[in-house]
Amino acid sequence: MGIEGVNARIANIQSRIIAMQTQAAGRTAQQSQSSTTAGVASGDDFASYLSDAVSQAPGSSRGYTLNSNGIPTDLEAYGNGQIPASALEQVGNTRHKLWAPAAEALTRMMSDAQRAGVHIGITDSYRTYDEQVDLARRKGLYSQGGLAAKPGTSEHGWGMAADLDLDAKALAWVRANGASYGFYNTAPRESWHWGFKPGSSDAGQQFAMQ
Ligand SMILES: [Zn+2]
Repeated sequence: MGIEGVNARIANIQSRIIAMQTQAAGRTAQQSQSSTTAGVASGDDFASYLSDAVSQAPGSSRGYTLNSNGIPTDLEAYGNGQIPASALEQVGNTRHKLWAPAAEALTRMMSDAQRAGVHIGITDSYRTYDEQVDLARRKGLYSQGGLAAKPGTSEHGWGMAADLDLDAKALAWVRANGASYGFYNTAPRESWHWGFKPGSSDAGQQFAMQ
């Protein structure tokens, strides 16, 4: 979605929320009035609309969305590991790039950790398809006891995971706080691999996409 599309969606959400608030106020003042009038939203409709609006903007207020496979809709057309650098966002002042909401969340997590006296480093972030092929050759496929996802399926290939350089203190901090930034240790055998799962309610789900 282009920036015009994002702005249009935000304007649409704002206008609908204002309309619903107006309707809700009207209902409160006129409880006896029928609520079957077309266009009048019930409280439940409002709640579900709000929840839809929020879930359509995971990890960001800028309208980024994930498709049903959990892949960023603004990146899916490129393909896993085929994303141009210009479509990704830099993490803080590092040389690493991720999907924009993931980059922003990780930047925030790293600076909050720093304020708590904890240093989080990054060893790997977005990874190209060719780099994943090379990694799989060197480290073996995860499904076969190795440490690499099948090329074309890695969270790294969508800019949705970072490998973090963590000492014991930092690992404990990220385990305690990562979820509140949307980061989960999605590879059970790799304490360094943190996938970005915005709005995730299934923190325990294992994706094996390291
Ligand atoms: Zn990883």
